[in-house]
Amino acid sequence: MLPILLLGAACSSDGTSSDGTDSGGSATDVQSEAKDACFAGTPITDGRLSIASTVAPITSILANIVGDAADVIGLVPEGTNSHTFEPPPSVATVLAKANVVFANGLILEEPTKDLAESNQPEGGALCELGTAILPVDQYVYDFSFPEEGGKPNPHLWTDPTLAKQYTELARDVLVRMDPANAATYESNAAAYVVKVDELDAAVRAASDTLAADQRQLLTYHDAYAYFARTYGWTVIGAIQPSSFDEPTPREVADLISQVKESNVKAIFGSEVFPSSVLETIGKEAGVQYVDVLRDDDLPGEPGDPEHSFLGLMRFDYVTMVEALGGDASALTALDVTDVTTDKAEYPQ
Ligand SMILES: [Zn+2]
Repeated sequence: MLPILLLGAACSSDGTSSDGTDSGGSATDVQSEAKDACFAGTPITDGRLSIASTVAPITSILANIVGDAADVIGLVPEGTNSHTFEPPPSVATVLAKANVVFANGLILEEPTKDLAESNQPEGGALCELGTAILPVDQYVYDFSFPEEGGKPNPHLWTDPTLAKQYTELARDVLVRMDPANAATYESNAAAYVVKVDELDAAVRAASDTLAADQRQLLTYHDAYAYFARTYGWTVIGAIQPSSFDEPTPREVADLISQVKESNVKAIFGSEVFPSSVLETIGKEAGVQYVDVLRDDDLPGEPGDPEHSFLGLMRFDYVTMVEALGGDASALTALDVTDVTTDKAEYPQ
């Protein structure tokens, strides 16, 4: 796979609104403008609301809020690199009908966002959930997402406390865009927030069973930075460079020393980004390597009970806690059944 990285041209996003009246760039502007954009659509007065969503975890959250009341279509195929995803022409056709497009934001989906801006129908809303909920001063820049690259770590949804905020904001946007179904969105979202709170409590309980010196993460794909901050873990490193290439031999050598010093029992790879480097680091450092984590590819197939945001989170955190020597029973006991039947389309 040789994804084309859009360097420069498409990355000058500074929060300047499309009407050009803002000077743009200040931290509060970025968040408040993103929030305003979520509520800038024209509510529909008849027919079914058409919703497009980028990555599968967000699609699953939306599917739970919406149930039967509206159509939800995912755009980024599961198992592909969402960070470099270039939407094919078929996506423009979906966007042309989408009354609301939900994206993660934090500069994860610029090509899809550009396509949405030029294809959405009159009165459509484009809502970047992460950009709208997270103040800019709380962005994480790190190994794979260095500040000089201009792209913050975008993986807010792997932190259940932030996923809850995604749910609440999406609910408010949908209630406004489709007032006829407001009661459905409100009640589904209320039930879902209870589930996300249970997930939060279970993640905390499982994570608290780990010795403090084991609550350290070395991952291949750097998708757990906000989770780590919320639940008191330390991200000691990530293997994947910001270019999405493999690390250099020098970087691999440094990672091996880091893992040895950290005394962790396990390091983690990603099912979406298979890499032999992880195996090398694990063997050289004498620790277990587990290469099944997933950040935006839901477990199982569409229609399976665990094919959901909640199922994804349970899978990842059970995997991490058990490999590091903790007790994940609070998580394995968690009921991750969706609150409504998931009718969304998930491209594969
Ligand atoms: Zn990712």
